[in-house]
Amino acid sequence: MSSIDHTHDPALTSWVESANAPDTDFPVQNLPFGRFRVEDDPEWRIGVAIGDQVLDLRGAGLINHSDMNRLIRLKPETRRELRAQISAGLATGSAQAGRWERHLHAQSAVEPGLPCEIRDYTDFYIGIHHATAVGKLFRPDNPLLPNYEWVPIGYHGRASTLQVSGRDFHRPKGQVKAADAAAPVLGPSQRLDLELELGFVIGRPNAMGHAIPLAEAEDHLFGVTLFNDWSARDLQAWEYQPLGPFLSKNFASTLSAWMVTLDALAPFRTALRRPAGHPDPLPYLDTEANRRSGAMDIDLDVLLQTRAMRDAGVPPEVISRSNAAEAAFWTPAQLVAHHTVNGCALSAGDLFGSGTLSGPLREQAGSLLEMTEGGKRAITLANGETRSFLQDGDRIQLRGRCARDGFRSIGFGDCSATVLPAL
Ligand code: CA
Repeated sequence: MSSIDHTHDPALTSWVESANAPDTDFPVQNLPFGRFRVEDDPEWRIGVAIGDQVLDLRGAGLINHSDMNRLIRLKPETRRELRAQISAGLATGSAQAGRWERHLHAQSAVEPGLPCEIRDYTDFYIGIHHATAVGKLFRPDNPLLPNYEWVPIGYHGRASTLQVSGRDFHRPKGQVKAADAAAPVLGPSQRLDLELELGFVIGRPNAMGHAIPLAEAEDHLFGVTLFNDWSARDLQAWEYQPLGPFLSKNFASTLSAWMVTLDALAPFRTALRRPAGHPDPLPYLDTEANRRSGAMDIDLDVLLQTRAMRDAGVPPEVISRSNAAEAAFWTPAQLVAHHTVNGCALSAGDLFGSGTLSGPLREQAGSLLEMTEGGKRAITLANGETRSFLQDGDRIQLRGRCARDGFRSIGFGDCSATVLPAL
C-alpha cells in the first residue's frame, strides 16, 4: 500500500504559480497522469497536470516514450521514484525550472485524451445505499439480494464507447416497453440518467490463472478517475433479465482526463465503513490493512446545467453531494482480488467502474433514478425547471475532492458531457 512521504508535505509549493492557488485540483502534491495532444502534432503525449498547466514528461526528459499503457505497468517503487522526480522538479527553487518551463502547456490549449487506452471495462456495484435504494423500487421488503454482502457484484461492460470529459453524446435509442403494452417499441430513451462513479485503472497485469491476493491488489492499481456511467433506465428495465444490463449502459460513459495515483491518494485513505449487520467477507476478501485503510475519502459532487441555464449564463447547480468512503461496501483492492480469484487475467489499462456512489440520503443520491424515486418525484432547480430524467441539452459535471487536516487538498479535474438529441 502507498505511504505518505515528502511529496505530500503540505508546505511544498511550485514554481508553476497556478499550482499554489488554494482551490486548484492540481497542486504539486497531486501530480495526476493523463494524455494530451497539441496543435499540429497528432501523437498523444504523456503529461502530468500541475495547476492549470500540463507538463510533457517526455519533453522534460523524465521518460523516453509516449505509451501510457507502458508507463502504468511500472513497479510501485519505480512509480514512486518517478513521482519524487516530478515533485522535486516542479517544487519552488528547483534547478529544473528553466529547462522544464518550455515543456509546459496550458491545459486550456491542449486536447485531452482518455488517460490511457482502455482495454476491458468492468462495472461494479459497490455503493450499498444505491443498491438498497434501487432494490427498494423493485422489492420494497427485500431490497438487497442475498449475494450482495458476499460478492462484489459486477458485469463486463464495453470499452469502445468510453469517452474523455468534454465529448458530448447523442441520446440513445432502443427497445422500451410500457408495463401495459403488449409489445415494445423502438425509440429514444425517455429515462436517461447519470451514474456518479469512480473509475479504477489497472496498471500491472496478472498472468491468466494467477489470482492477485488482496494484500498485493493495490500494486496492480495505477490511478483513480471520475466516471459517469450514463444509463437508459427504460431500456434497462426491459432488457436486464436474465443476463444483466446491455444496451442501456454501453452507448456512452464519460471519464475524467486525469488519473490520480494511489500514491497521491495516500493521505486520504480511510477505514472501510460497512453498515452494521453484515457478515465478515470470506478470507480472500479480508485483511486487517484493507479494513483499516482500504477505502478512499473522496467528496463527490454532481452538477447539472440545463440548456436554459446555459443560455441565461447561470452556472451549473449542485444537485447531489456524496462521499466515496461513506458509499462503498467494498474497496478497490477487494474488486481486484475478486475479479482475479477465478484466474481471470487483467491487462494494463483495464477500467473498473465502482458503481453508483450514493449516500444514504436523497440529496446524496448519485443517480436521478434515486433522487426522483424512479421518476415519481421530480427535482426542482433554482430557476424553477424540474427534472425527472435528463433532457436534451442538459450538461452533467462530476467533481471529486480530497481534504484532510494537515494535508494539501487535491482534486480530480473535470468530468462533464452534454446530452445531444437522438440521431
Ligand atoms: Ca454503473
